[in-house]
Formats: sequence, structure tokens, C-alpha cells
Amino acid sequence: MRGDPWGRWFRLPPDRARTPVSWPAVSTTGSPPTVADVVAVLDRRYPPAWAEEWDRVGLVLGEPGTPVRRIACVVDVVPETVEQALAAGADLIVAHHPLLLRGVSSVAATTYKGRIVHRMIKADVALYVAHTNADVADPGVSDALAARFGLTGLRPLHRPRPGSPADGPGRGIGRIGEMPAPMTLAELTRHAAAVLPATAWGVRAAGDPGRMVRTLAVSGGSGDSFLAEATAAGADAFLTADLRHHPAGEHLAAGGPALLDAAHWATERPWLDDLAAHLRDELGVETVVSDLDTDPWTVHAAAPDRTTRSPDREG
Ligand SMILES: [Zn+2]
Repeated sequence: MRGDPWGRWFRLPPDRARTPVSWPAVSTTGSPPTVADVVAVLDRRYPPAWAEEWDRVGLVLGEPGTPVRRIACVVDVVPETVEQALAAGADLIVAHHPLLLRGVSSVAATTYKGRIVHRMIKADVALYVAHTNADVADPGVSDALAARFGLTGLRPLHRPRPGSPADGPGRGIGRIGEMPAPMTLAELTRHAAAVLPATAWGVRAAGDPGRMVRTLAVSGGSGDSFLAEATAAGADAFLTADLRHHPAGEHLAAGGPALLDAAHWATERPWLDDLAAHLRDELGVETVVSDLDTDPWTVHAAAPDRTTRSPDREG
């Protein structure tokens, strides 16, 4: 229902539609930073050269000289989050997912993305994207996810190719760390649903519900391609998003770590708090963090008495 942003917006329960605004300490500088100042701060923390080759990051819309008093942090640039940012008085949106990933030959307002572009330009709101360059950074997207579980001794799950621009100490996609206390997979699944931002999808897990988890690997977003690395790293379980039947089943059959499949948005939303805190600290601007669940899944139902499948039960 992307064509009707307000319809979806008003259907949200009040707790999910809330837009927390954090007010910074009194600005120490007389004039607000410009779009160029914000870009410089973000490019330092998330250098565009660290992004994957296929990725498209950095400033997408905006004039460098425009003053920025308030920044909205979102995972997805969709009509709903843009309206949230505009309503909050943001001058700049920092997003995780690129709005324009593939080549475009038109941003006419007759197209879905073109309408978003027009809305932002007419409101004089700039857009900046930090995607795989924020995934690989230290601290990066998965550090914020790991923090939700209190993981310690963090190390990267997937390291950049040696000699590539992103290669460096502590950098890489995903993190592995030790749990504050071991718990079974069933307990960890319930725990994950409680500590991650709430979504209709929730969290599902694959593997023996009684398996003890001491070492946990996490990767914000689609972590399908890091299953072998989670196995090689000796993780007891791997939490990510967008897992599929065949890769998950074959991974488990080969003795790999248990899998937890969370909502994509919920695995990346924790990073927005870290991003906003950094922008406040560096620039003295106000920040707004969107808690609007942009995951496409909106309904979830568990069959009665089937929250787990155990070998002694018919199935
Ligand atoms: Zn993502």
C-alpha cells in the first residue's frame, strides 16, 4: 500500500506510530551545520569507498549549503518515513537502504520513487544513504544489533577482502560474540523477540529448541550468504534476516549453527540510535529516529499449540 502513505500511517497502533525526538545539549556553535558539514561527518565514519561495488551510497538529494537543524534517521525511504521526517521538521534524512540503487532515466512524479524524490526536493529536504559502508564499519550496523543481546568479545563475521578499501581492524559485516549467559535456542528466540524492535514477523528459529547457545553470530539485514562463515567461526546460533528454506535446511543438515530469522527492518533499526547519537555529538543537531516498522510483513499467526516443533510430536 505504498501509494497511500496516510492510510497505512493512521492504521498503526499509537506505540508504533510514535516518533521519539531527542533534543541535544545547547548548540555550541552560532550557526547550524550545512548539508556539506553533515556529509563530511558521515563520510568520515562511513567512507563511501567502503561500500560494496554494486551499492550506491552518499548524498542522493540536497544542496551542500543548506542549513541542517534536524536530521531524521530511517532504515527505508518510503512515503511513510518521508512524511514522518517532514512532520518532524527534518532538513536531512539519513537512510540505510538506497532509494535509487539501480540506474534510473526518470524521476518524474508519475513513478513511485519519482514522487518521493519530488516530495523531498519540494520540501527542501536532503537525503544521504549509508548502506554496506555502514555495515562494514566499526562501529557499524551489526554492533548495534549485537548490543541488544549484550554480546561481548565482538569480532567481524565476514571480513572485507584483504587490501580492499574497507579492510581494517575490527571491520567487517556481521559480528560474533559471547552471550552474557547461555540460553537454549527456544529461550533465545523468545529473548530476541523481546529485545528487538517489535514487528508482525517476530522471530523464528531453525534447529533443536534445546540447543545451548553461548556464542552468537548476528548480521543486520540479509545474512543468507554468511551461513558458511557462521559455521566456520564456531557460532552456536546465527541471527539474521531473509533466510530461505533450502539454504537454511542444508546448512542445518551439515551441522551448522542454529538459525534465527528476524524481520529485516528489526535487525537494522537498532543502528539508527547509534547513528543519531553520533550526529548529535559531532554536530550538535537535533535528531529524530523513525520507529515506523517498514518491514513488508504485516500479519503473523502461529498455529495453535505449534510455537515449536519437537521430535516427539506429530508433525
Ligand atoms: Zn538492509
